[in-house]
This record gives sequence, structure tokens and C-alpha cells, in this order.
Amino acid sequence: MSGPVNFPRLQLAGHGLARTLRDEASRAAGALLGLFLPGACRVCEQPLADASRLPVCSTCLESFQKISPPICTVCGRPLGPWVTAGQDPPRCHLCRKDTYAFSLARSYAIYDQAMSRAVILLKYEAVTPLGEWFGARLEELVRSSPEMLAADVVVPVPLHPARRRERGYNQAELIARPLSRRLKLPLRDALLVRTRPRPDKLKLSRKERWTTVRGAYAPSPGARIDNLRIMLVDDVFTSGATLDACSRALRKAGAKHVFAVTIARTAEAWTEFNLGGDTGLVKSR
Ligand SMILES: [Zn+2]
Ligand SMILES: [Zn+2]
Repeated sequence: MSGPVNFPRLQLAGHGLARTLRDEASRAAGALLGLFLPGACRVCEQPLADASRLPVCSTCLESFQKISPPICTVCGRPLGPWVTAGQDPPRCHLCRKDTYAFSLARSYAIYDQAMSRAVILLKYEAVTPLGEWFGARLEELVRSSPEMLAADVVVPVPLHPARRRERGYNQAELIARPLSRRLKLPLRDALLVRTRPRPDKLKLSRKERWTTVRGAYAPSPGARIDNLRIMLVDDVFTSGATLDACSRALRKAGAKHVFAVTIARTAEAWTEFNLGGDTGLVKSR
């Protein structure tokens, strides 16, 4: 092709180049400014008061609803204050039926709107300083439970290898690593593997949550699990199905106890009632 035909294309390319350079320059300036000026909180979008590696403001961090007693003494589910009278030790409807294969589960806070945004930062953006902050909260949680303090190793709930490759990291490990360091326990991130991937469907029904994870985890070949007390770490306790499936695989391989800790827990839509000595459950919303 001759010059005149190519000329408009060159001009176009020239414009494109100018735009790219402009974009690059503004990105570089933004990055430079970011070094000196704190950005916005990634949860509430208000300007951050100080420059910190943590992209979440102190108001948001303080707004997380910490889970406190009365809770189910097995799975840590928050219970209504009126239920537990006469029930010693308090256990939820599922733990009264020995549903879970873990010995104990505890979570730091309720999975509300602010917490779900924080979890997204961990899950899709690998915000490591937030993982460190949650690791410190989980350390406090573990230190308040003498049974959990007896753990030998810390194990993050694994992702399927294909998912891990695609994401480049495992969000549970971002919390498990600082927790293990704080508790001075070894992190065994290859002890357990997910052998069956999660279905692509974004939302799973309550029943699907249980059926898709049953048998989806297995110990790594050659892993020595016998008699170990394992602290299993995940981001959110929803139905408990994932933690239960992992615990089942670990117990089957000889683990003595599995203690599960998560940063968040979905609030139950069930409210227990106790009327004239009769206890039961009503759906509260
Ligand atoms: Zn905020
Ligand atoms: Zn329970």
C-alpha cells in the first residue's frame, strides 16, 4: 500500500498513542499522589483519615458486629438470649443432632453488608493487609477458647487447583497465614486438597451447598494427619457445609479434632422460642 492510503491510519494510530500516553501519565500521577494522600475506604468510600496499608477506615472496622454469647457451644451460631435458660451447655438445633464433623467452630463477626464488602476485597483483590487484620482478630478468638489453643497445625480451606490457578491465590490462606504466625503454629496449606470443583453457578441453594461439597475434599497423598488437632480456616461460615466436608475428610484420615474458624458468619434466619418449657424454631424472616 502507498503513503496516501496509510496516512489516515497513521493519524489514527497517533491519536491512540497520545491517548495512551495521557492515560499512562495520569495513572502515574495518581499512583504518585496515592503515595502521599490516603485514598477512599474500600468499604464505605469515605476518604481515609490516614495513609495506611489497610484500605478500610476505622469506622468500618469498628462497625463489624462481633459475635458474642449466647452462642451454640459447638458451632458458634448466635442464639437468642431467651433460649438458653435451662439448656446447658447451649447447643443449636443442628448441633443437638450432631450435624457437623468438626469439634468446634467460631467466627469473628456477622456477615453483614460491610463485612461482605471486606470479604470481597480479600476474595477478588487479594488485599493482604486486610488478611493480616483479620488474622489478628482470629488470634483473639482462638486465645479465648482453651480447647482451640491446643491445635497443632493451621490449615486453610483449599480451592480447587484450577480455581486457584485462575485466581492466583487462596483467600482463606490470606487469613490462615498471619493467624498461624501469630499462634506460632505451622501452616499446612497443602494438607488438604479440593478434588472436585465447585459448580459454576453463582448462588447455591441450601441443599446444593451440602451436596456439592460432600466428598469434594481429600487429604493430599502421603499427608500425615493421624492424631493431629487441626485448625481449619475459611472466610465465611454460611451453612457450615464446606467446613463439615473438610472436617469429614480430615477425621477419616485420622485427625483427632478439627476446630473451624472463620472471619464471618451469615446470620441465621431461624429464631428459637421457648414457651412454657417447649422449645422450637420459627423462621424469623
Ligand atoms: Zn469505611
Ligand atoms: Zn450449633
